[in-house]
Amino acid sequence: ALLTTGLAPAMADPIDYRDPTAPIPERVDDLMSRMSLDDKLGQMVQVERVAAPPEEAAKHRVGSVLSGGGSAPEPNTPEAWADMYDAYQRAALDTPLGIPLIYGVDAVHGHNNVQGATIYPHNIGLGAAGDPDLVQRISAATAEEVAATGIDWDFAPCLCVARDDRWGRTYESFGETPEQVTAMASAVTGLQGEQLGGSPTSVLATAKHYIGDGGTTGGDDQGNAELSEQELRDVHLPPFQAAIDRGVGSVMVSYSSWNDVKLHANRYLVTDVLKDELGFDGLVVSDYDAIDKIDGQEEEFTRDEVRDSVNAGLDMIMMSENHELFLEYLRAEVDSGQVPMERIDDANRRVLTKKFELGLFENPFAQRDLLPSVGSAEHRELAREAVRESQVLLKNDGVLPLSKDGGKLFVAGKNADDIGNQTGGWTITWQGSSGDITEGTTILDGIRQAAPDTEVTYSRDGEGIDDSYGAAVVVVGETPYAEYEGDRPEDLKLDDEDLATIAKLRESGVPVVVVTVSGRPLDIGGEVEGWNALLASWLPGTEGQGVADVLFGDHAPSGKLPMTWMGSFDQQPINAGDGQQPLFPLGFGLTY
Ligand code: BGC
Repeated sequence: ALLTTGLAPAMADPIDYRDPTAPIPERVDDLMSRMSLDDKLGQMVQVERVAAPPEEAAKHRVGSVLSGGGSAPEPNTPEAWADMYDAYQRAALDTPLGIPLIYGVDAVHGHNNVQGATIYPHNIGLGAAGDPDLVQRISAATAEEVAATGIDWDFAPCLCVARDDRWGRTYESFGETPEQVTAMASAVTGLQGEQLGGSPTSVLATAKHYIGDGGTTGGDDQGNAELSEQELRDVHLPPFQAAIDRGVGSVMVSYSSWNDVKLHANRYLVTDVLKDELGFDGLVVSDYDAIDKIDGQEEEFTRDEVRDSVNAGLDMIMMSENHELFLEYLRAEVDSGQVPMERIDDANRRVLTKKFELGLFENPFAQRDLLPSVGSAEHRELAREAVRESQVLLKNDGVLPLSKDGGKLFVAGKNADDIGNQTGGWTITWQGSSGDITEGTTILDGIRQAAPDTEVTYSRDGEGIDDSYGAAVVVVGETPYAEYEGDRPEDLKLDDEDLATIAKLRESGVPVVVVTVSGRPLDIGGEVEGWNALLASWLPGTEGQGVADVLFGDHAPSGKLPMTWMGSFDQQPINAGDGQQPLFPLGFGLTY
């Protein structure tokens, strides 16, 4: 009868995961019903692009690839990034189910792996600016540059609460209190937009590193946070709650331990607290090769480590290589019943939901029409605004603001004319490096532009100073580092070169303005007496004019210390309210 009347049977149309009008949960269900176990295990892998070119990634159905620590295509241009990304996506779409992959990078202060991208101040400077709306605008601008190159996933914001300046990642923190960091969860909204996938410039954000990365004993990177559960929750959890409230799509687990248990094997914190108690329904990703270290050894992951990390609640494992071995181990653990199938399905549901929400099934390729945004004048102006707002004036006997009415100005110091030093770690390469590593304006260039009628002399070591100059500006501090390479368990003093340069300037009798370019407060308690002014510039990024804006009073200093400034190194860890006498307290900052 049906055939003769031509009527369809009275049942709902079956959902097809390729149907963009179907509700996402149903698309996920349909897709998962068509996936083999190997398809599902593949979705749980995120592998370094170097170890898995497009065909290899597609062959194993890997869910994601990444550029860890700045691994970039040759040449390192925005176009080459877009080409690389599209090649991955084409290979992924060419598999039977055509599941797009998702590509992750660390765009932690702008799209910092890419030559010519706008580099914003590192988080410590944005914490000093203290403006959640500014952070949101910067994050949105970053997302635009990221999306232009195709990338869908940003391992930012870092929501660590840095409690010890010896820690090499202090500059990735917005501040030493949970309140300061929580306010900057606005970065999530900047990166993702009001809704993930709601616009072409929406990228998946990552709240990292869960949890207690900034609270380790001695400020050891990847160390052990020896804290009561109450303190862990009071100090380190609130920023994650704020990020979840803003709909953050992913959370990265911390390399560190809590009371000797690695976070990557901590089912209580990852599953019971993060997923069940806080209600996080996005995807949990491991840190880079972090599961290898669960057993305390650095070597390649073992089968036990694979099992324990997945059972702890990790949905995707980030690895530098050996994805085949990982898949073999995980398969064996599932086959033997040690990793329940529900866990694999839960992970897949979380990963695939984000891919659908991002719109990757409909728009898998790079948004090339956005490429002109990379390093655009508009974004550089925003970065300059951020630099201006982030400067903290710590001392001033009246020498600042500098005059623009002609005269002579002497500029010195190793960080005055070095883009690499002022951008810091996580710039072009993982560790960053000194020198002309990308396009930008150095602080010296900014000074010259701000005062065209002033005769500006630059000498790195201060040689040539005499009392004909109105003032000397000396830019000193740290040189680039990232992660544990920046741990400083011994001291945080200015180096001998900086001290010698400052001493030479002081001998001339000319007033000396010290500008510190550094990822954290430094141990200068013994020196500051002899300086006429002190300006903390943090790691300002590519737009050095923002520092000049403050030196010349085009912008009155408005930044406030995001961290307590130690009186001496032996006070570490020093934080507000701990009874120690700082050189400058949390929240301190002068103006004109
Ligand atoms: C860092 C993460 C980063 C990852 C990928 C790790 O070493 O701890 O913050 O997202 O590398 O580059």
